[in-house]
Formats: sequence, C-alpha cells, structure tokens
Amino acid sequence: MPDCLFCKIIAGDIPSGKVYEDEDVYAFKDIHPKAPTHVLVIPKQHVATLSDCDDPALIGMLMDRVRKIADEVLNLAAGYRVVINVREGGGQEVFHLHAHILGGKKLPF
Ligand code: AMP
Ligand code: ZN
Repeated sequence: MPDCLFCKIIAGDIPSGKVYEDEDVYAFKDIHPKAPTHVLVIPKQHVATLSDCDDPALIGMLMDRVRKIADEVLNLAAGYRVVINVREGGGQEVFHLHAHILGGKKLPF
C-alpha cells in the first residue's frame, strides 16, 4: 500500500466520518468543512491526481458516485458543488484522487 492518508482511511487504519462505501469508492466528512455539508469521495484504487488518471471508466465511475451520494445519501436536492483540486497549483494537499462535495447553503462563486 502506498504511504497515503486516504488509503489508510479506506483501510480503517485512520478513523473517518464515513457516509458511504461500496466496492469502488469510499466517502467521508472533510475534517475541515468549508460548507455545512462537505464530503470527500475517493476511489478505492490509489490514483495520485486527476492528471495521472488515464482511465475514463474510473473518472466516470467517480462522477457517477458523486451524483448518487449527493442525491441519495446527502439529500442535497437544492444543489451542490463538486471540486477536484489538481496538483499543488490547484490546491491539492492529499495526493489520492478525491472529489469534494460542498452544499447545504447557497455557495458564492
Ligand atoms: P485537497 O486540498 O483537495 O487535497 O483536499 C484535501 C482535503 O482533505 C482537505 O479539505 C482536508 O481538510 C481534508 N482532510 C485532511 N485530512 C483529513 C482527515 N484525516 N479526515 C478527513 N478529511 C481530511
Ligand atoms: Zn491512496
């Protein structure tokens, strides 16, 4: 296993506020929420960053689960934002691909 914070969360070695899990993804509450609802959705397969991912099926699967979790688990019927930070310049701090789901209030842009 790579020495990766999010791989350790998937494995249960580091505690997390799990909101959803299936065979492909794990979703949990961000430890420093930037909106009333702030959940991270991560593939169980370790991929460092979106730029490194040349697997359209994995990217599509991740977006499908984001949609499903937002609608069916988090009940964000009013709407939400999806953010993927890419590499240092994009604000990425944890190098295991993840999508942020932000919602629960009107989000300025
Ligand atoms: P990013 O800047 O896109 O790499 O986002 C990483 C996110 O992971 C940040 O929003 C952090 O607050 C969050 N984070 C870091 N460590 C943990 C943790 N142990 N549990 C939950 N969220 C975390
Ligand atoms: Zn990882």
